[in-house]
Formats: sequence, C-alpha cells, structure tokens
Amino acid sequence: MPLLNTLEQKFGRLAISNIVRVIAALQFINWFLLRISPGFGSKLIFDPSLILQGEIWRLVSYVVLPGGTSIIWLLTISFMWMINDGLEQAWGSFRLNLYVFFGMFCMVVGGFIWPMQSTGWVLWATLLFAFAVYFPDQEILLFFILPIKIKWLALMSAAGLGFVFISVPGAMRMNILFSLLNFLITFGPGFIQQMKHRGEVADRRRRFESAKSDVAYFHKCHVCGKTEIDDATLDFRITASGDEICDACRTAKTLK
Ligand SMILES: [Zn+2]
Repeated sequence: MPLLNTLEQKFGRLAISNIVRVIAALQFINWFLLRISPGFGSKLIFDPSLILQGEIWRLVSYVVLPGGTSIIWLLTISFMWMINDGLEQAWGSFRLNLYVFFGMFCMVVGGFIWPMQSTGWVLWATLLFAFAVYFPDQEILLFFILPIKIKWLALMSAAGLGFVFISVPGAMRMNILFSLLNFLITFGPGFIQQMKHRGEVADRRRRFESAKSDVAYFHKCHVCGKTEIDDATLDFRITASGDEICDACRTAKTLK
C-alpha cells in the first residue's frame, strides 16, 4: 500500500510505541480502581449523548476502561499485554497505531449513528484476531497453567462475539460490525483473494483432469464407446462412414 508507506514516512515518528501495552497498563490500573470504586467507570464510558453535552474526553477515555471488573477482563488485559510485541513486529508501531486509532474511529462513528454506551471491548477482539492471523500457532498459558494456541482462543472469542451479535438488538449489531471494520478492512481483501486463489487452483485442476481424460486416448469405438485405455488388446478400424470401430464390435457386426 503506497499510501500507507507515504503516511508512515511522514508521520511514523509520531507513533506511540507499544501502544497496546500502554493501553493494557492503563486498563490494568483502572480494573483495580473500579473494584475499589465501581462508580467511576461511568465517567469514562463512551456515551454519545454525554459527548454532545460537552464531555468530549469520552471520545477516547473508554479505551482505558476494561470491559468489566471480573477476572476474565483481567485475563483479557494480560493478553493485550502479550500480543503487543507480535503486532509491533508484524506491522511496526505506525501501522499498529493506525489499526488502533482507526478501530476507535469506527467505533465512535458507529456509536453516534446507532447511539449506545460502550467500553470498546470489540476493539480488543480485533487486536486478538489480528494477532491470530499472524501467529496462529503461538501458545499462551490460559489462567497461567493451561497451554492454548492463539487460533483456538481467537475462534472462541469469535464464537463469543457471534453469540453476542445474534442475541442483541439490530442497532447494537451495527455497532459491533462498525467496531470490527479495522479488522475487516485490513484482512478482508486478503481473505477474499486467498479464497479466489483457492477456487482458481481447484478450477485449473478440474480442467486439467477433464483435459487429461479427453486426450489420453486416441481411439474410441463409436458402437460400444470403449477406448484403447479400457482394453489395451482392442484394435480399431475406420468404417466406411469414417467412424472408429473396435474389433469386437466389427466381428459382432459381420457375424450378424
Ligand atoms: Zn466396440
């Protein structure tokens, strides 16, 4: 992508390095603060109506708000911490920044079109999915004991997301879809291309196979349809009408 390269050359130095880790650290702190004082999360959450009333910090503050105060979210935060390095290695800081900020942008736009409060938890799913595309077989320790490959974790998260998607009202579905846009735009074209390529290969193979069965024989009896491949002992003659006929059928004909 030439545009991305130009942007990277111009603005690359502005990128926040280890951005996912920075956000994870802030979420980690907030996770503890929320356990002490649960009410303060309401000051950070994304809320379009309150943003319109002037609380503009909510355009970004929701990012440092964990999805919840249960232990699962602490686990999510620790994943974010772990996947930062892989994503920086795959993309570099600038592109990772772009992915995060574009994801936030999409979520905010979706949040205003279909107004809804949100913690931006889908953004973390898109980070995990991106990591799983690059490092599907990387193992991590779930709950610090159970080894699990990232691809399974991503599939489980996708299933969870899919479950939420079908069980919420339509407006919230659009919200979720919009929040997934960074992932869909980054990886969608690649997936489609891959599927197309796979289709083309299958198509070529099919053509090759049928071509092979077409040209693999030279003689074909117009009466019984046998070729020299069906029976290597068969001899073929050309009849007066120009058709090919095998010995067996010729003998049978003359005997009649
Ligand atoms: Zn024949």
